[in-house]
Amino acid sequence: MGKNILIFGPNGSGKGTQGAILHKKFDIPHIESGAIFREHIGGGTELGKKAKVYIDKGDLVPDDITIPMMVARLQKDDCKSGWILDGFPRSRAQAATLADTLQKEGLALDYVIEIVLDREVAKIRITGRRLCVNDNNHPNHIAFDAIKPVEKDGKLVCRVCGGELKTRPDDQDDAAINKRHDIYYDTDTGTMAAVNYFKGTDVKVISVEGSKSIDEVTADIMAEL
Ligand code: AMP
Repeated sequence: MGKNILIFGPNGSGKGTQGAILHKKFDIPHIESGAIFREHIGGGTELGKKAKVYIDKGDLVPDDITIPMMVARLQKDDCKSGWILDGFPRSRAQAATLADTLQKEGLALDYVIEIVLDREVAKIRITGRRLCVNDNNHPNHIAFDAIKPVEKDGKLVCRVCGGELKTRPDDQDDAAINKRHDIYYDTDTGTMAAVNYFKGTDVKVISVEGSKSIDEVTADIMAEL
């Protein structure tokens, strides 16, 4: 069985952390739509400028920007032996478009992973996470021992590489957090609707409880992959 994987979970569920772990275990790219947007913003590209307006508010970037960007990413050479898609699709419409595109390209979808977590718990977790400026696959969180940043010269730095840590502006903004969670937990057209879309297909959906420890969540996922 191949390893073309979608990973779902509300912001703060540990989705990025588990994506980074699977990336390492299977040596397949961990493709985060949010991180690609942030790279564009950092690089000052036209796409980045357009996307920033939406991202700062916690709104979805329009499909005519997002979908071609993600499809182009999946067509890169490093995706031939598998991929983990994180943050895309984020709506029912994106899920249907992705499923169609994969079918047209003759690509399989092997697994959908869903990290289930209560909205209040997810919200509390968001403010503690830190981004390593060197590598998105270096998750850090000030409240979790397993991925706690380390102190160097009186400053918190990345526990993996010692790199500088940043917070995301949209993680420190209450309205943007709520907006993102409204979108995630929306079972009509939002991200939960995307998860449910795949539950109605042949693809294997692995649902894991996100309130467990990082190691336990990984073990629960690995038991089914
Ligand atoms: P994330 O890092 O996954 O929390 O994404 C950060 C922000 O990027 C989101 O709040 C959206 O504004 C935007 N974004 C990420 N993925 C998508 C997507 N699939 N569709 C539309 N906007 C997205």
